[in-house]
Amino acid sequence: MVRIKDIKASKILNSRSDWTLSIEMLLGDGTPIRVSVPEGKSSGSHEAASVGVEEAINNIEKIILPAVRGFDVSDQPGLDRMLIRLDGTPNKSRLGANAILAVSMAAVRASALKAGVPLWQYIRGIARLESPRVRPRIFANVINGGLHAGNALDIQEYLIIPRTHNIRESVDIIHAVYHKLGTICNGKYGHSACLVGDEGGYAPALDNNLSPLSLIQSAAEGHAVDFGIDAAASNITMDKNKLLDLYRIMVDQFKLAYIEDPFQEDDFQSFTEMTAGYGDSAIITGDDLTVTNVNRMEEAWERKSVNGVIIKPNQVGTMTEAIEAVRRARDYGWSVIVSHRSGETNDDFIADFGVGVGADGIKIGAPSRGERVAKYNRLLEIG
Ligand code: PEP
Ligand code: MG
Repeated sequence: MVRIKDIKASKILNSRSDWTLSIEMLLGDGTPIRVSVPEGKSSGSHEAASVGVEEAINNIEKIILPAVRGFDVSDQPGLDRMLIRLDGTPNKSRLGANAILAVSMAAVRASALKAGVPLWQYIRGIARLESPRVRPRIFANVINGGLHAGNALDIQEYLIIPRTHNIRESVDIIHAVYHKLGTICNGKYGHSACLVGDEGGYAPALDNNLSPLSLIQSAAEGHAVDFGIDAAASNITMDKNKLLDLYRIMVDQFKLAYIEDPFQEDDFQSFTEMTAGYGDSAIITGDDLTVTNVNRMEEAWERKSVNGVIIKPNQVGTMTEAIEAVRRARDYGWSVIVSHRSGETNDDFIADFGVGVGADGIKIGAPSRGERVAKYNRLLEIG
């Protein structure tokens, strides 16, 4: 049995130079376990609520630590239940989803270390999912727009998705296409077009939402890749019919295979129409719509709003609940895409999580910027 002896919480910088939470959990035998938590920018309003970093630090040291000191880290469901009870609110707004998640993640990392197995393998064990034995396909966000870039593109993410579950092959393709895309952007728009956005994708100063797909199509010529977008439409002011027209062209011209958050976060009905219209050829995915929350997912399922779902542990706040959301998505027959956040640290936990729960896909940005590269390199290490 491995017990929690102490937790030191502190603030560190994330990839947007915002302060974020980092903790060091000290185990009974003195082993230190470090984790840090990511942070979204185009966050859904139904996500579990994080609190300011100073408040999170205070909550961990004054409220959480006294409650969990001595707790066996390998009892993940018990620990997460205790954290949820201690918070006592429906959306974790008292202690903060960031504070709770850090402790929950640290317990998983500690248990894996003590069990002597890689983190992804430990997560596979506690998830007890009938997960496929294949690795997730990588969803690489190679052109950034929306809230993640300083350009005028409404669409937040333009994704390439290699048609392979082999990590090495997938990264090779992404690497080749990303470099080719840089050369094309540079040739067409000059060097400044190669500056990158929050998730490491290029952020050329374009305002036509279709142009990035033409660029990506040229760059990906000869490679086995699908194309996708995350519209993050809660942040788009365009009216619904214009958006529908845009998606129609994208599907017809570029054979989009993946469309995330095509409409506002509470517009289940429009998602339903989209899934009815395009669900046979594309994965229509909820992110801000479903927020890794089984109640929102249930509504989406009853209304046939999506056939895919984004899973972000920090949208819900504990490992147990994030795994439960994966399980639920599997019951519904949806594609599962585990995702990083736009504000990340170098913690590569999410790579192990994606592999561990047997996700169909993992969204980790472009292969540039240290905090994104950390996830790519961890996936390569897992193999
Ligand atoms: C997303 O919307 O899928 C995303 C990763 O962005 P953020 O972390 O800003 O919510
Ligand atoms: Mg999204």
